[in-house]
Amino acid sequence: MGKVTGFKEFDRVGENHLEPKERVKNYREFTLTLEDDAAKVQGARCMECGVAYCNHACPLANLIPDFNDQVYRGLNKEALERLHATNNFPEFTGRVCPALCEPACSLGLIADPVGIRSIERYIIEKGWENGWVKPEPNPNKTGKRVAVVGSGPAGLAVAQQLVRQGHDVHVYEKNDRIGGLLRYGIPGFKLEKTVLDRRLAQLEAEGVVFHPGVLVGSRLPEAIQDGSKENVSAEELKAQYDAVVLAVGAEMPRGLDDVPGATLQGVHYAMAYLTAQNRKDAGERGKNKLDAQGKRVVIIGGGDTGSDCVGIANRQGAASILQFDRNQRLPDTVNKAMTWPYWPRVHHDSSSHEEGCTRDYGVMAKRLVGRRGKVEKIVACRVQKVAGRYVEIQGSEFEIPTDMVILAMGFSGPASSVLEAFGVEASRTGAIDAPEEGARRYLTSVDGVFAAGDARRGQSLVVWAIHEGRACADAVDAWLMRG
Ligand SMILES: Cc1cc2nc3c(=O)[nH]c(=O)nc-3n(C[C@H](O)[C@H](O)[C@H](O)COP(=O)(O)OP(=O)(O)OC[C@H]3O[C@@H](n4cnc5c(N)ncnc54)[C@H](O)[C@@H]3O)c2cc1C
Repeated sequence: MGKVTGFKEFDRVGENHLEPKERVKNYREFTLTLEDDAAKVQGARCMECGVAYCNHACPLANLIPDFNDQVYRGLNKEALERLHATNNFPEFTGRVCPALCEPACSLGLIADPVGIRSIERYIIEKGWENGWVKPEPNPNKTGKRVAVVGSGPAGLAVAQQLVRQGHDVHVYEKNDRIGGLLRYGIPGFKLEKTVLDRRLAQLEAEGVVFHPGVLVGSRLPEAIQDGSKENVSAEELKAQYDAVVLAVGAEMPRGLDDVPGATLQGVHYAMAYLTAQNRKDAGERGKNKLDAQGKRVVIIGGGDTGSDCVGIANRQGAASILQFDRNQRLPDTVNKAMTWPYWPRVHHDSSSHEEGCTRDYGVMAKRLVGRRGKVEKIVACRVQKVAGRYVEIQGSEFEIPTDMVILAMGFSGPASSVLEAFGVEASRTGAIDAPEEGARRYLTSVDGVFAAGDARRGQSLVVWAIHEGRACADAVDAWLMRG
């Protein structure tokens, strides 16, 4: 343990952000990586608990007390090795992870928890800055070929782990660029795409072959983004490769199925809206057809995807932004003694909300009304949850004038056409059925076809996708190399 009394001496170091007024002028990242002295103080606060709950709470089981101590002692290269031992892509989690580890920090019981995510970001940025992150190709080839379908964090983690085991790995992606939601979902102000590109270059140098713009299977529903120019059938892939991993995400968005007016012009899925801006940021020519400039924007759905839409709408210069949710507002605080070491269900305003947004709760859209085919208002009502159902409060109907409605109500699972193409079974929730443990771990109902990430566990987090990718790669390797 570096500084025995550190937790008593120092307060948590907050990450520096650009001011909201400044940062909404562009789409670039606005969180600054810790300076050396600040990182040492942050690391010094770690108590190196005998039983480290932070490590237990992290889906990747990151060796948090170890690297906190190493950062405190200025051993940044060693800290990077420790971090990479469990996490292929700390630059993604160091930026966008909600940090499930921090509410589990024991210091959090009496003070602010250690700022673990900021230390993670500091370590990996030191690694890139000093040239410590290098390709690690394996010269010993196994002769086995694996196809990975989908290039989000799960697919990329599978690919990197397997290529380092000596297998020949090809990643198929229907969109024109590699990265999954890291590329086209998560906005640049949370994760700049150069951060993704430098990691992709490492994977390519290790031997991973990317095939962007190739749809595996066919017939995706219209609600799913598809930038493909070619397609490959499931049969072709199965014939060409020894194993296939389906890391296709959970792209099927929930819509306003029973709500009249949901197909009016001006009503968009969140992913269409976010992708359009991410494409613009990547230099795509022409006008962004989904620009919110001067519009009264209403975002339906109170989660993180909706919050990302708030950030984009503010940067585009929306006239007003309202985000509503059918659930009630969560409490501002909880009794830590009751929730620790678990994730507390408390109200949270994201950095995008700080930039300007009205939020409302216990509200449901009843119908959308338009003029000449274009949305003009939402007729909504207040609801309360009774026996698991949202019930309208009588006499609570009201109208919300709007020019643009964004649907951010979550995702129900992967497109069923992918499951049908491979003949794999779905779980009760609509995800791809593949157990996490046991002899058939990550293996679907079809031999040689595996699944990982949101496609298998349902809509989740980047950190879980990386965990799934690593664990699935382990299972694929064992299956390929079985006697
Ligand atoms: C807007 C948004 C913001 C988010 N922000 C955060 C955040 O801040 N922090 C966090 O931890 N998590 C966040 N998440 C969740 C996180 O991004 C996902 O959990 C994670 O990306 C899942 O990884 P994945 O690899 O399983 O799938 P994805 O990232 O969804 O990648 C799947 C890929 O498969 C491709 N694909 C699908 N079908 C085919 C096919 N038939 N042929 C070829 N390619 C195909 C898709 O095009 C896609 O690129 C966010 C999610 C969204 C939607």
